[in-house]
Amino acid sequence: MKKYTKRPEPDKAEIEKRRESIDAIIDKYSCPPDDMEDRDRYFMRAAAELAELAAKYDDVPVGCVIVRDGSILTGDCNSKEFFRNPVNHAEINAIGKASEKLGGWRLTRCELYVTLEPCPMCAGAIWAARIPRVVIGAKDPKHGAYGSVLDMNGYNLNHMPDVVFGVMEDECSQMLKDFFAFKRNKKEDSSAGDEESAT
Ligand SMILES: [Zn+2]
Repeated sequence: MKKYTKRPEPDKAEIEKRRESIDAIIDKYSCPPDDMEDRDRYFMRAAAELAELAAKYDDVPVGCVIVRDGSILTGDCNSKEFFRNPVNHAEINAIGKASEKLGGWRLTRCELYVTLEPCPMCAGAIWAARIPRVVIGAKDPKHGAYGSVLDMNGYNLNHMPDVVFGVMEDECSQMLKDFFAFKRNKKEDSSAGDEESAT
């Protein structure tokens, strides 16, 4: 019988530190402007700061905040590497926290801001939570599920959110480019002079 290795838990102090950093970012964005256009940028900026936090933990920089009644209810970032869990995308994390906070699964009065176009899994979660408005930073030509690869709003499902693209698009996409360039350089550095380890 094949033996499996249980994935290692991240350090408890590290988890706590990460949680505190998330709370600090959300606290910083507790006074949104009234103007709608500025408001979208304001909340996207909060999501972008959460994305930067993901990168600090070696996760692809994607951040998400969920807004309810004009202020941030909760937010999180991608933590797939940190928790070694494939479903820990920023949106799934934030949706989970929001339903926990509200004590119900219907996030019908919420808006979701995310720095990168949701993947099919996250678009599924947005549908499941009945979130009415989704605001997106950068498009994702490889995994995007609101028009880039597939369109979740094109299947006549019983719930389809309003989707807004292009809020802080350049900043959100630059963050991803910088992250992958950094990873590539790191890989090249570590394999330089070590022919055997090069793949
Ligand atoms: Zn996703």
